[in-house]
Order: sequence, then structure tokens, then C-alpha cells
Amino acid sequence: MIKRITFPGRYIQGPGVINKIGKYVTTYGKKALILGSPSGLKATEEAMMKSLAETNIETIIDHNFGRECSYEEVSRLANIGNDEKADIVIGVGGGKALDTAKAVAHKLRAKTIIVPTVASSDAACTAVSVMYTPDHVFKGYQFYSTNPDLIAVDTNVIARSPVRLLISGMGDALATWWESNARASAYAKDLTCGGSRPGHITMAALTLAKLCYDTLLKCGVEARRSCEEGVSTPALEEIVEANTLLSSVAVENTGTAAAHSIYDGFTILGQKHKLYHGEVVAFGTVVQLILEGQPEKDLYEVINFCDNVGLPYTLADMNLADITDEELMEVAKRTTDPAEFIHGYTFPVTPESVFDSIKAADSMGIAFKERK
Ligand SMILES: [Zn+2]
Repeated sequence: MIKRITFPGRYIQGPGVINKIGKYVTTYGKKALILGSPSGLKATEEAMMKSLAETNIETIIDHNFGRECSYEEVSRLANIGNDEKADIVIGVGGGKALDTAKAVAHKLRAKTIIVPTVASSDAACTAVSVMYTPDHVFKGYQFYSTNPDLIAVDTNVIARSPVRLLISGMGDALATWWESNARASAYAKDLTCGGSRPGHITMAALTLAKLCYDTLLKCGVEARRSCEEGVSTPALEEIVEANTLLSSVAVENTGTAAAHSIYDGFTILGQKHKLYHGEVVAFGTVVQLILEGQPEKDLYEVINFCDNVGLPYTLADMNLADITDEELMEVAKRTTDPAEFIHGYTFPVTPESVFDSIKAADSMGIAFKERK
């Protein structure tokens, strides 16, 4: 059986990492194009520029990032990098800024350095950018043959980032083990884009997925408290690693299953729910477990975790208490679009079975709250 696994080149994490970034970057090149979100640059710019200057790395910093990872924005930034002969691209911020940095570096054939300032997505470590139009409409995926060269995560910066983004990152990471497990045990089809089928998944990827889940259960509540206080603790550091490294490597090398298709389903409601990606994915994980017929013990473990850290597990938690059955059926239909990975299961998945599983997840969550 042919198996494969892909990793980022180097991953460095800890309090104060940003103060030493020059030392880490120096082996990759001489001139860096730096781009990022306004909040990401605000949190890192001073320390980063000082450290890069100390190691004689030339810098061009762009403060005009348009907040969307579009081909237009990538071209604009690549032109700057080209004119300045940058051999390193440093992306600072959350998912969109990091995806843009990967795309710009790819265009310039430059080294990719990633500085996440929130721990809410898998964008930091993966070899893909999610592309949108400048008006924020999803366009497609751009895959790369290699992962970012270096990821440098300063946990002091993450500790001071919005706590809801850390929790949302935990929601996204929560799905990783269950989706990897589904890929490894309950999938029949070869879904080449974004994942593997049973037998093609490495032990390493599955082990990292399980470690990610166990870390969430062990450190999630304490990490939330640390972030609320704005301090870096061992628990916060473990959650940052789970959200940023473990979840990314696992999902990139196993793939998604029902939870992310359910997320896609809820996108038809627009921003009606006012939730972040990982928050919807957390509810999607509960629905996936019901759809798969997982034991109650596992379901309650997931619901209890969501309750403890503040992730939604009922429709009311998702600001959707008044959703109609017709709207919910539209969500279920979008979830089961033929292109969705939810169809990899050994059993058929229909709009009706998704609809029923969402309803069951909601009533289970309500009953859980009543018993608390
Ligand atoms: Zn996700």
C-alpha cells in the first residue's frame, strides 16, 4: 500500500519567539517582503523589524493588505516582491493573510515564513491557499508541492489575541480526530482532493489526530482561561500546538468528512448565525457522530467539551433557534451536494439523513443543558 505524509519544513513555538525571528529566518534568504492583517502587524511589527534588522535581513513591509486572499491581491504583492527582489515572504496574521503569503511566495519562488497571530485555523502549516474573489466569493483551492518553510508562533501574541478565535480554533481542531477516524475506518471511496482513503493513511497522521483530540480534552478549559487573562501557560501552549500544528498536519494527510460538509451546508444561510468557521464545525462534529451512529459515551464527551469551552452544540447556541424545517432542509441539501466529502462513507448519506441528524444533535444538546 502506498502511503504519504507531508509536513511543514520547520515549526517553532513559544513565548517571545517573535523577538528572535531574525535568527530563525536568516538561513532562508536576505530580503523579506512582509505582509499581514492590520491587527497581526500591530501585534508583531515592532519586535519583528528589530530582530530582522539585528540579523541584517532587508525588509519591505506592506500595510495595504486588502483582507482577502484573491488573485488580484496576490499579483499586487508579487509585483512588489519582484521589483524589490525579495527572496523571503513573511505572512503575519490569520488564515487569509497566511494563505496570501503562501500564494505570493509561490509566485516569487521565494521561501515562505508564516507568523500566525491567532490560533484559529489550519492555514499556517498547510500547502494550500483558499482563493476568493476580491468581493469575498469562494473561487477555489491553490495547492503547492511543498508546505511553508518555517512557521514561527509566539504564544505571548496568541495569549493576547481574541479568546473567541482561540475557541473557534479548538472547534475546528475538535473535528480533526473524528474526521480522520471516519476517513480511516468508515470511508470507501478514493477522494483525491484534500484527503486519503482507508489504507492510504499513515499511522503518523492518525496518531497526531488522536493527540490533537486528547490535548483539547486535557487543556482546552485552562487554555481558554489563560487567553482570557492574556497570559501564556503550558495549557495554552499545548492548545496552540493542537490548533496550529497537530490539526493541520492531521487534516492535510487524512482529509475531512461530514463535519466540514455540514459547515458548508450552513453557509447557505449567509452570516445569519454570526459564527466563526470553527464554531460551526464544532456543531458539525456532533452531527457527524450522530450520522455515524457513534456510541453515546463519545457523543457526550464531545458535547461536554463544547459546553466546557464555550462552543455551540445546539441550534439556539448557533443563533438559529428560529430556523424553519424548510431552511434546515436547504442546509441538508447543500451539505449533500455531490462534490462534498460527506459522500465518502460506506453508507449512503441523503439530505433526509443529514436533516434528521441535525435535529437529533439539537435535541440531545437541549436535553444535556436541561440536566446540567
Ligand atoms: Zn476547518
